[in-house]
Amino acid sequence: MCDHEKPQSKPKRRAYLKDPNIKKAIESEHLTGVRYCSKCDKFLPLDQFKPPSGKNKRQFMCITHIREKARIEAMGTKPKRAYNILRSMARPDMLEFGHLKMNIGRPAVLHMLSEEHIANPGEYCLMPKRPDRPLSVPNSIILTRPQRMYLINRWRKTKDAQQYMRDLWHLLESPSSPPSSFPADGPAHPSETWAKLFDFE
Ligand SMILES: [Zn+2]
Repeated sequence: MCDHEKPQSKPKRRAYLKDPNIKKAIESEHLTGVRYCSKCDKFLPLDQFKPPSGKNKRQFMCITHIREKARIEAMGTKPKRAYNILRSMARPDMLEFGHLKMNIGRPAVLHMLSEEHIANPGEYCLMPKRPDRPLSVPNSIILTRPQRMYLINRWRKTKDAQQYMRDLWHLLESPSSPPSSFPADGPAHPSETWAKLFDFE
């Protein structure tokens, strides 16, 4: 009555082990020298399988297919890893800016990331555009580590939100000029960059 309500995935996944031919082959694999790969759906020489070791029982997926599976799994976790790294690096900054929380959900942040960001998350940081507001997706920007260091060092000295915003603006407006040469005052006329940066609410 309740047997069919049990999750089907496990018995289904290894249904091939119930095949009498395969069963027989398993028992005599030390004689025949072949084993069934459930992905190739054919018998392959034993040396194309990982030998059982420790907790790893006899596997019914050849080495090629195990590698393929690992590769696909790693690709799926890369964006998650990038998100976790960016998030964990934003935490000390949260304290630095005196924020009590941050509101950066994974799907929205992943939307902001380029392939380069996902490949090298350790080189980038998620920084607030306005330091007087908590980090959120609209109030965040992806910067390089040196850019972050510059902003944070300036912030530690000034603790001035307006100055931080001007520093950020200068960083983005003239990325080639050295930060030390930035004028302390803001843009004479609010530019397009300024509007794009801070008109997010
Ligand atoms: Zn295979």
